[in-house]
Amino acid sequence: MLLRRAVAVELEVTEELNKLLYSVEFAYLSIVREVVMYAVVNNVTSATQLHELFYTKYRREYSSLNSQLVQQAIRQAVQIAKSFIERRRKGLVHKPYPEVRSVSIRFTESAWNYEEFVESIAPVRIAISPISTGKRGRGGRRFEVWLKLHKRFWLYWWRVLNGEARLASTLVIKRKANKWYAIFVFEIKPREEEPKSIVAFDINENTVAVGKIDLLSTMGKVADWNRQYLTPQLYMIRTDFGRLAKRYEAIRNTIIERLKPGFALPNGKYVNITNTREFRKRVKRLSEGDRKLGRVRYVANELTRTPAIIITEELGDNPQESMINGIEKDELRHRIKQTPFKKLESAVEDKALERGSRVFKVSSYRNSRVCPIHFTRLEKTDDWHILKCPFEHLVHRDYASVTNMLWKITPEAWTKGIWWNMKKNMNWREYEGKSNPLVPHSIVQYIHAILKSFTASLEQSPAVLARGKPMTPAGGANEGWARKPPQHGEEASLVFQFIPLA
Ligand SMILES: [Zn+2]
Repeated sequence: MLLRRAVAVELEVTEELNKLLYSVEFAYLSIVREVVMYAVVNNVTSATQLHELFYTKYRREYSSLNSQLVQQAIRQAVQIAKSFIERRRKGLVHKPYPEVRSVSIRFTESAWNYEEFVESIAPVRIAISPISTGKRGRGGRRFEVWLKLHKRFWLYWWRVLNGEARLASTLVIKRKANKWYAIFVFEIKPREEEPKSIVAFDINENTVAVGKIDLLSTMGKVADWNRQYLTPQLYMIRTDFGRLAKRYEAIRNTIIERLKPGFALPNGKYVNITNTREFRKRVKRLSEGDRKLGRVRYVANELTRTPAIIITEELGDNPQESMINGIEKDELRHRIKQTPFKKLESAVEDKALERGSRVFKVSSYRNSRVCPIHFTRLEKTDDWHILKCPFEHLVHRDYASVTNMLWKITPEAWTKGIWWNMKKNMNWREYEGKSNPLVPHSIVQYIHAILKSFTASLEQSPAVLARGKPMTPAGGANEGWARKPPQHGEEASLVFQFIPLA
């Protein structure tokens, strides 16, 4: 399996090339639009068929365009039409045909100096051939362009030189505002590394709860049986997805209120403001998506910092839907819907592959309903986050959840965690010796030993698992999940909260 990473590098285009690229883009976009329209209206998605229908026509119409680009434009149209038809079939789109607003111009191996480029140790420019020489069989006219290279490019280029990655042969040229970018695609070989820690994480509305056991520092120290090294670290990474959604919701509402007067109908009602151009224009500037994506990346980065065995819940196809079931309040439903569970999960999986971590999913069954010390069913308290064990101690819901996930990897509680049925008497013998076959047995034994000694120590002072409580502000904090509010704008909200363990 290959990982792909796209790196955009700005081009230093001359005025001449700038003009040329605009006209090439225009031709390319026209082809894509027309072919997409035809394909969707006539329900034709065969690449061969569409090529036969259109290639000669466009070669004549745009005779100066490199024939490679004509081919690529038709191909791109096929892909757009296919995905549109597929989405329409699923009922996800209601427009009669897709609007193609912009295109990425694809240069295949022969339309740019790929061979030359990959041979170079430190490439600083590319040569592209967007237009043909006009004479048959002579190929395209070459334009050399300098690249405004940056650190990210060099990091991947270093990997190419090391043989850890290769550069894909197709180059994409794309315009954003008035700047032109070359988009290089690097194919990276996933790393294989010895795991250095075991990390369980659980995604919540405003935090990601983490339970971490370091293997590096502990493996050799098992003999000393030093408790300091044998306790999993439990902490939260703040994401504030819920709060972010709440804030942007408020901003959107303000925009609607401000726009309303301009869209009043004679009967006193209003046009649906969210459908208007003015609304979309204003909302577009809000960059909610960018912020969210930034936080998703941050969390993925944190969790995969060292090669690890990463354990998380099986989320199912639509985690939001199952979570909002039974929640009446519209606002809370909206916030949960805005929590990017799947995005975060796939970002972690992706980064994990790149950095040599492995992700394992365990069932979500009763992860936050069972005491990780006594395996009894937890009861609610008046604080949504804090649960009470029948053995008279409190447990923070999120810590229970990540600790139970760790348990699920071990033979003992793997069976308990998954099959444990309050009413049914389980025959534990049946499950003896079974564990998740994907995690090396020595590590399973190790997690088991650590959890055993950890929970044994908690039997004396189980308050450790409920440390969240003193930090929860008094009153009405049930949905807030609040610790401290972010202090210095957005960035400050991503502060780690290490919960010191006794
Ligand atoms: Zn308990």
